[in-house]
Amino acid sequence: MSDGYRQLLDATIQHLEGLKSRGVRHVAVAPETLRSLALPAPAAAKPQISNFKPTIQAATPPVKTEPVISMPPKKSVAPVVAPKAIIPNLKIEITSSSPEKAAAFTALRERALACVQCPHLAASRTTVVFGVGSIDAQLMFVGEAPGADEDEQGEPFVGRAGQLLTKIILATGLSRADVYIANILKCRPDTPGQSAGNRPPTPEERATCIPYLQEQIDLIQPKAIVALGATAVDGLLGKAPGITKLRGNWQTYRGIPLMPTYHPAYLLRNQAMSEKRKVWEDILKVMEKLEMRISAKQRNFFLKAE
Ligand code: URA
Repeated sequence: MSDGYRQLLDATIQHLEGLKSRGVRHVAVAPETLRSLALPAPAAAKPQISNFKPTIQAATPPVKTEPVISMPPKKSVAPVVAPKAIIPNLKIEITSSSPEKAAAFTALRERALACVQCPHLAASRTTVVFGVGSIDAQLMFVGEAPGADEDEQGEPFVGRAGQLLTKIILATGLSRADVYIANILKCRPDTPGQSAGNRPPTPEERATCIPYLQEQIDLIQPKAIVALGATAVDGLLGKAPGITKLRGNWQTYRGIPLMPTYHPAYLLRNQAMSEKRKVWEDILKVMEKLEMRISAKQRNFFLKAE
């Protein structure tokens, strides 16, 4: 089996495992893809695709921190979002209570995946990181831009900061599949001449990319948005007085309540309990806005060393 084919296969399996771990039960596979999977793998060696199942059976539901936490009825089924560049034949199925909404979202996603408006980013990216979660979500998280892990996997917030965001989401009693997660910028900001590291998006990159996020928000119509960090807050609200001043205070974006809070990457840099508590208090306000049940235990998270 060629290296390229093995890489593609590994990426496919890794992506499907990721979907499965988030509770996705099915992926739609085009008939021609199924037929091609039955063919021997290119260039030598045994085909090792016997583990590939077009239908993923029921995954273990995400662990909930508190069984008592609930949210007003959700209409959603988690959309399946895959990086087209990595899995070209995998048909993405975006489902919603409204077929028109699902179709509009699919069309938007396809436009974003083909975007080359920032030629330098189109040249350096591995994938366009469009967004992930339920398009019927009541709660949306907006970050800055994909990092290296996100660029590789085609999904926002999967690196270290992303894992922390996932913990925060789980602490509310929700899962990543219940919310929608996106970024101001859909491509990883390039870092020419550097083998590692990130940089914030430039004002031009932000201005070019923000219409995709606006359309995502207009289609999803969440009941609340959490803007993670200064870039997300500035990107959505325009020139803002700064994240330290704004965090914890409700703002409005296109008629939708927006809660600015610190980016999880900041919490990784500053491990003080007081900073974690600030973010958690912002999230509690969001839970209240969404009329979610909040247990006494949840109210007290990060009040004392655990
Ligand atoms: N940081 C972000 O702002 N977005 C990501 O997707 C990952 C890290």
